[in-house]
Amino acid sequence: MKSIEGRAMNKTLLWLALGAACVLALPLLPVPDFWITQLNYIGLFALVVLGLVLLTGVGGLTSFGQAAFAGVGAYATAWITTAQGLSPWWGLALGLGVALVLALVIGVLTLRMSGHYLPLATICWCLALYYLVGNLEVLGKYDGLLGLPPITIGEFSFQSERRIYGLIWGAALLGALALTRLLASRPGRIMRALNHNRGGGSTMPEAMGASTFRYKLAMFVIAALLAAVSGWLYAHMQRSVNPSPFGIKFGIEYLFMAVLGGIGTVGGAFVGAALVKLAEDQLKVWLPLLFGGSGNYEIIVFGVALVLVLRFAPDGLWPLLRGLLARVLPAAAAPVVNEGAQPLPARSRPARGEALLQVQGLRKQFGGLAAVNDISFEIRAGDIVGLIGPNGAGKSTTFNLISGVLPLTAGEVRLRGQAMGGRPSREIARAGLSRTFQHVKLVPDMTVLENVALGCYLRTRAGTAAAMLGLDRAEEARARAEAMRQLRRIGLEAQAHELAGNLALGPQRLVEIARALASDPALLLLDEPAAGLRHKEKQALAEVLRQLRGQGLSLLLVEHDMDFVMNLTDRIVVMEFGRHLMQGTPAEVQASPAVRAAYLGAEE
Ligand code: ADP
Ligand code: MG
Repeated sequence: MKSIEGRAMNKTLLWLALGAACVLALPLLPVPDFWITQLNYIGLFALVVLGLVLLTGVGGLTSFGQAAFAGVGAYATAWITTAQGLSPWWGLALGLGVALVLALVIGVLTLRMSGHYLPLATICWCLALYYLVGNLEVLGKYDGLLGLPPITIGEFSFQSERRIYGLIWGAALLGALALTRLLASRPGRIMRALNHNRGGGSTMPEAMGASTFRYKLAMFVIAALLAAVSGWLYAHMQRSVNPSPFGIKFGIEYLFMAVLGGIGTVGGAFVGAALVKLAEDQLKVWLPLLFGGSGNYEIIVFGVALVLVLRFAPDGLWPLLRGLLARVLPAAAAPVVNEGAQPLPARSRPARGEALLQVQGLRKQFGGLAAVNDISFEIRAGDIVGLIGPNGAGKSTTFNLISGVLPLTAGEVRLRGQAMGGRPSREIARAGLSRTFQHVKLVPDMTVLENVALGCYLRTRAGTAAAMLGLDRAEEARARAEAMRQLRRIGLEAQAHELAGNLALGPQRLVEIARALASDPALLLLDEPAAGLRHKEKQALAEVLRQLRGQGLSLLLVEHDMDFVMNLTDRIVVMEFGRHLMQGTPAEVQASPAVRAAYLGAEE
């Protein structure tokens, strides 16, 4: 089985390598110069759009300023080669350096704020750069700089369009490869979870231990660097620079290419770049004939096309095209999970009876409402504790205070003796707490296995650069093997390669539990795991939880459904109106008139 899958995988790689070789060999064939030029532009555009695929498509962060980063790459090399007489390779280094610093500055200033600040900042930055270079004497004002030398390697000069083609497409294909690798890696999974439309924002990745700010910044920097490389190549292809290709009009056009091609897909970057370039040329010829005069009519057509694409093919054209290609090309095999991979490092197990979680005088005030008011309880290693209460009692808020999603107003939370109150959720995760969410937070367009592998975040190391270079393969295999083990534990290994978004709610909740288990937690917190499940699914869930209990895991179970927790827990804490109502064994709680009154009162 494995070897067949392995062979199919090699076949896919072979097809891709063959495709790349064909693309790179084109200038050696009698292809007319016109088409080589067109393809050069498409490759240059695709490089920039690849950055947007990552930033906007995957990360949900919009930038109108990519043209300006291309401008930085172009002007840096133009200045250093003409005014300083240095080699274009110094120009590349300078362009990448300046783009890096600018992206870090803009990113640090805006990425911590909510989503709109980044697009606004990139518009400002694009306009500012345009007028800056247009008015600077050293950069030739609006006429730009002329007479750039060609790029050379030793004696070989990339002076003709046919020659620089190899560089452009080499860079574009390497960019595509690096991005593909990144998206299937440890940092890539966090990036894919960040998008509010697909993943669910930063709450879940933070709860898995990731600093989401760092990843947003990394995406912004990668996009800026890709654009700068494109600008560098463009400058040496044209052998001159002027401000017009780096203004806001192109900034918008790059976004249009990304959306048209299929935002969030590597193939979409190439499809979008090609379609816009080819359509623009045709429209520039035909529209003035239709409407008379000479105007930029193509902009209007693009505007209308964009609205139509968003309305009828919101995922862009690449998914449609991929569907067609899938009929011709052999199907990509399901990825192989090598379960023999060395296990990931495990946490030191707390001794049975060790104080795991101590909650003391916990309080949360929302304006005038004390949602949680003086709650105290303790969980020892091996305990299964239920936190129950009618709707609105403050269970989820308590849960969010313990897991660091909400800052607490007063009180103290200790995890294995360490004070945790006020720390961000990623640090609490590091200390050994893992959780699920009342409203399931899976990344729907990632496979079940990838979603679970996201839980291994803190047990693995690979960074963004290592992932792009493919240096993370051994560790990645271990993470996937661990994810598979956890899926087997909850009985979902057969669905490992399905998209998480295609599962029903019950299995989705189980996948969240597997993801939490993949972090090797000392304490597992489950928020209303049975909510919205059908009877059968509830039974399956109870079975899984009983097994986990049998394996000695410590659990805090927040539930509205009292029956569900009764025969699962050792001890139950009951809340009502934010206050502590009672705690005791399930039998004591069941017998308590106060609890019955609270539940009956809530049902009235
Ligand atoms: P439970 O999970 O027990 O159903 P919650 O903890 O979700 O209850 O809510 C407790 C109370 O706090 C409710 O009255 C709810 O309306 C209120 N509450 C919860 N979150 C917020 C918030 N972010 N802002 C204001 N009020 C909130
Ligand atoms: Mg709740």
